[in-house]
Amino acid sequence: MTATDKFRDECGVFAIFAHPEAEKLAYLGLHALQHRGQESAGIVTSDGMSLHAHKAMGLVADIFTEEVLAPLHGTLAIGHTRYSTAGDSALLNAQPILVQSNKGMMAVAHNGNLVNAQDIRHRLEAMGSIFQTNSDTEVIVHLIALSREHTLPEAMADSLRRVEGAFSLVMISPDRIFAARDPRGFRPLAMGRIPAQPGMKHDTIVFASETCAFDLIGATYERDVKPGELVVVGPEGVTSHFYAPAQEQSSCIFEHVYFSRPDSFVFGRSVDKSREMLGRQLAREAPAEADIVVPVPDSGVSAAMGYAGESGIPFRFGLIRNHYVGRTFIEPSQSVRDFGVKLKLNPIRSLLEGKRVVLIDDSIVRGTTSRKIVRMIRSAGAKEVHMRVSCPPTISPCYYGVDTPSKSQLIAANKSVEEIREYIGADSLVYLSLEGMKKACGDGEKTTYCTACYTGKYPTDIVDVEEIQPAAVIKR
Ligand code: AMP
Repeated sequence: MTATDKFRDECGVFAIFAHPEAEKLAYLGLHALQHRGQESAGIVTSDGMSLHAHKAMGLVADIFTEEVLAPLHGTLAIGHTRYSTAGDSALLNAQPILVQSNKGMMAVAHNGNLVNAQDIRHRLEAMGSIFQTNSDTEVIVHLIALSREHTLPEAMADSLRRVEGAFSLVMISPDRIFAARDPRGFRPLAMGRIPAQPGMKHDTIVFASETCAFDLIGATYERDVKPGELVVVGPEGVTSHFYAPAQEQSSCIFEHVYFSRPDSFVFGRSVDKSREMLGRQLAREAPAEADIVVPVPDSGVSAAMGYAGESGIPFRFGLIRNHYVGRTFIEPSQSVRDFGVKLKLNPIRSLLEGKRVVLIDDSIVRGTTSRKIVRMIRSAGAKEVHMRVSCPPTISPCYYGVDTPSKSQLIAANKSVEEIREYIGADSLVYLSLEGMKKACGDGEKTTYCTACYTGKYPTDIVDVEEIQPAAVIKR
C-alpha cells in the first residue's frame, strides 16, 4: 500500500486558546503526543487577525526549531501529528488543513476516520469542488465552506451532522478555537485549563488527544469533550453546543490496550490502570508455570507488571530497548537475521538463560514481531517461552483511525491460536478474553467500548469490510 492509497491515519491533535505563547505550548503539546504519529506534524496559529501555518515531514522536535516557531507567534493555535505509511504525497496530506473560504480563514486538525468521506467527496466533486488532498478531513472543510449556515459554529455543526465515523477534531479561526467529537466518541479529546496569563482576559483553554499533553504545559484536566458536542472558545468565553444527540458510546478500547500513553487519562480513565488490570486479568485467565515475567518494551510493560503482581512471578526487564532507532539506518551487506527487531531490542542473557519465561505483549497484529522476539529470547538461553497477549486476537481492520492492516495481513484472521503459537515458536500462547479485556478497561463505567477489531462487529455501517480496502476507495 502506498501513501496515496492510505486512508487510515493515527494522529494526535492539540489546541490552545488565549496564551501569549500559544505556538510554543502547541509545540510542547505535540511533543507529548508524538507517540500518536511520527510521520508529519503541523501547527497553525492566530495572532487575532490572520492564520499562520507550518507543517513538515518528521518529528515535532526536528520540525519546530526556534526559527520556524518565531513567525508563528500568536495567542491561539492548533496542532496535529500524524502517522501513515511513507510516500511522496505524504506532506500534502499533513495537517492542519488551512483554507480561505467564504466563511473566512480556518484550519482543521482531525484524529479518526470518516467512513462516508468517499461518498461525500464524490458528490462534492460532481458539484465542482476541487480537493487538494487525499485526506478524509478535507471533506469537512468543503462541507463547512458550502454550508448555508452563516456563522462558523453553525456551519461546523451542520457539516459534522453530515459525516459518519470517527472524529475528534480541533479547528481554528482568527479569533476562535473549536473542538468536537463524533456522537459515538470513538477517539479521545480532553479539555484543560491554565489560569489566565498576564495580559490575557481569559483563562487559557486547551484541548488534546491525551492528558499527557496537559501535564507538560501545566494545564489542569477539566473534562472530555462529550460525544456529539462542539465546544467553541472565543471572546465570549467557552460555549457548548450539541450538534447531534449522543449515540451508544463506542470509545476505542485499543487506546487503552496500546495506543495511548500510560500516563494519560483517556475516556476519563487512567490508561496505566487499565493496562495493569489487563495484565492481572490475563494472569487469572492464563496462568503459566514460569520463573520470570518479561515485557515486550514499551507496549507490554504495564500489563506485565499486572501479570507479575497477580501471579507472584517476578517481573524482570529481560529485553532492553534502544530508544534512538531512527528512520534510516545502514544494514550490513551480509544480511543479519531479524535485523529490524535487533536494532530495537536486545535480550539480557544473564537474566534469561535457563529460565521459563512468560513473555507479555499488548497485541499480535501480523505476528512477525512476536516471532522474532520469541526467537531472540530462546537464543538468549531461555528454556521455555510462554506468550501472553493482553487483548483478544485481532481479527478485523479498524475503520476509525487505528492503523490495523487489512484482514489478509492479520494473522488471527487467518490462523487459529494453535497455528499462531506454532508460527511464533512459543511453547504456549494465550490471548485475553473479550470479556476480560472489557472488564479490565472498565466497560460500562465511564464509557462503553468499540471492540470491532476483535469481533468484526462495527458500530457504524461498514457494508463489506474487504470491499472498503484503502486502494479500492481512494484510487480513481
Ligand atoms: P506484528 O504482530 O509484527 O504486526 O506487531 C505487533 C506489535 O506492533 C505489537 O507489539 C504492538 O505493540 C504493535 N502495534 C500494534 N498495533 C499497532 C499499530 N496500530 N501501530 C503501531 N504499532 C502497533
